[in-house]
Amino acid sequence: MKRWVAVSVLVTLVALLSLLFGCSGGSNNVQKAGDIDEIVIVHPVPTDGGRGCSVSTSDPENYRFTGWRLPSGGITYRVNPNKVKVPSGYLLTSDQVIRAIKESFAAWTEANSAFVFNYGGTTSAQAGKLDRINAISWRNLQAGALAITYVWVSRATGRVVEADTAFNNRYAWYDFSVPDGYTPDTYCPDRPLAYDIRNIATHEFGHWVGLDDLYDAADKDATMYGYGDVQELKKRTLATGDKTGAQQLTP
Ligand SMILES: [Zn+2]
Repeated sequence: MKRWVAVSVLVTLVALLSLLFGCSGGSNNVQKAGDIDEIVIVHPVPTDGGRGCSVSTSDPENYRFTGWRLPSGGITYRVNPNKVKVPSGYLLTSDQVIRAIKESFAAWTEANSAFVFNYGGTTSAQAGKLDRINAISWRNLQAGALAITYVWVSRATGRVVEADTAFNNRYAWYDFSVPDGYTPDTYCPDRPLAYDIRNIATHEFGHWVGLDDLYDAADKDATMYGYGDVQELKKRTLATGDKTGAQQLTP
């Protein structure tokens, strides 16, 4: 079964008073700890270890909302490109990793120009901690988890106060090239055996903007489809439903 199952866990943060009260300034309007919800969306790897990619054969029109929106002033993200696990014998530079992340955000800005994502440079911060850094990083997650997106939302405003995405460096990642005559929707690379950064990152950033996972088989070619696989590229390009949903989520 090549399945991702998204698990959303709603956790009220109660132990962050000292951290938050110790901060000042910053572009995010962080509420006191009791007013922030933490949502953790875990994407497990396919239980068969990955059977490979399938091309896109449909243009799903469905979308679902998570209930939050980005802050109206935009969001600045930082990339921690250290510790990206690449397939044996392959090389990925930090610049390639950063470019892949930028292009993943750009897919959403193309759908709705009101989404403002500013690249804030690299960071040594790790994703998964409410620290005012919207971090994208690779680290050792629990076995079986492919990627985890963390979103902290102000209860008062319904706005994202911070979002992080962690990719599991137990698994191999790559930035695949698409040959002339193909698009990410029509092409499946046959090597290396790895997850495409842009394919998974574009899905994860869909959660940042406020879109939820889709699970109907009819939505298998949507970026927000909740299942993914190695060598898959089709989530790089938004389906009609992904775009329609994004256009209704203007911050
Ligand atoms: Zn998801």
